[in-house]
Formats: sequence, structure tokens, C-alpha cells
Amino acid sequence: MKYNQSALVLHSGGQDSTTCLFWALKHFEQVRTLCITYGQRHALEVEVAKKIAENAGVAFQLLDANLISKLADNSLTNHTIAMDSDKPADSYPNTFVPGRNLLFLTFAAVIARSHGIRNIVTGVSQADYSGYPDCRDTFIRSANTTLNLAMDEQFIIHTPLMWLSKADTWALADELGVFDLVRNQTLTCYNGIVADGCGHCPACKLRKTGLDEYLRSKAK
Ligand code: ZN
Repeated sequence: MKYNQSALVLHSGGQDSTTCLFWALKHFEQVRTLCITYGQRHALEVEVAKKIAENAGVAFQLLDANLISKLADNSLTNHTIAMDSDKPADSYPNTFVPGRNLLFLTFAAVIARSHGIRNIVTGVSQADYSGYPDCRDTFIRSANTTLNLAMDEQFIIHTPLMWLSKADTWALADELGVFDLVRNQTLTCYNGIVADGCGHCPACKLRKTGLDEYLRSKAK
């Protein structure tokens, strides 16, 4: 199959994946987004992702993967479980959705292939405080190899945020000229509040700490 230089971005409407969307727009001629729902708390996330994609002039595709919420309990999809606000010493926080990124990348690769796209962009970061195993570079390399073998293709999974802290990710958004857009239009908050969010959930704390750090370093 002949590929053009196009990319598929896994996009949730959050800070990280939105920064990745604009990174992709800088690096590829054609970009489309894939937004995957899996029974997480807020339908608003989809609306946010769709609006950002439409405003950026890229194709938006929604995939319902709600079956993920039926496989095992976690606090993102089971609303009766209180969300861990901190990482337990000996395990992952209950916001961890086992297998999520492997499934997401598989869905993304199948869809990318159907569009003749070989570049897949995802906003995972090894520097992410939760330390989810499927956000690590080793896992991404392994998944990339597996997907290529599974489909006899030459996908390239791009992870522009892999080694960036949250402050670095704000810096990247600024470099890409979308600092205000990312700050004001994205939804990271687990309580479904756009922009600066509720201020007290784990995602808001992480986002705010990174933002404050970036703004302090910029002011120097
Ligand atoms: Zn929040």
C-alpha cells in the first residue's frame, strides 16, 4: 500500500492529546483524529474533542469501545468506585484501566490502515506521575513491533510527550502557538470541568502543578 505523509492522532480532548494534535499538524500533511469512548465519566469529553478537531480543520472519528468498561472494574468507568487521589505505594491508582492503551493502539492501527495512514500519534508519557505501565516507552516500542507483525505493515507510533514533564508539555503547546487554546478549551478534569477544571482531582492537580511550574520558569 502506498502511504502519503499523514497521521492519525489518538485524541481525547485533554491537554496532552490536544498538544499532540497540534504537534502532528506541524509535522504531517494530513491529520485525522480518533476519539475512543470506553464508558468513562463524561460525555462532554467527546464534545470537547470534536470541537477542537473541527476548529483545527481535521477529520474527527468517534469509536465506541464501551466493552472496555465491562472487562474489569476501575474508577474511571465504574462510577460507584471512589477515585484514588494519590498513587498507592504498592500498586496503580484505581484510575488505571488495564489494557487500555494496547486496545487503543490496536483500534488506531486498524483504522489508520484503512485510511492508508502509517503514522500514529499518542500522548502517553513515561514522566506521568501515575507510572501506568502502558504509558512507558518500552511498551510503546513493543506494541509498535506487534502491530507491524500483526498486519504486515510499517506503522510508526509517535509519542512526542514521552519524556516530557507536565511543565514541558505546556512549553510545547506554547512553542506550537496553542498555549491559550490548550489552556482554555481542553478537558483534563476527572470531574468534567473544561479549562482549569475543578482544581482538586488528581488530573487537575497534575495539570496545575505543571502549569504553575511552566509559568514560573517563563517569568524568569
Ligand atoms: Zn478536576
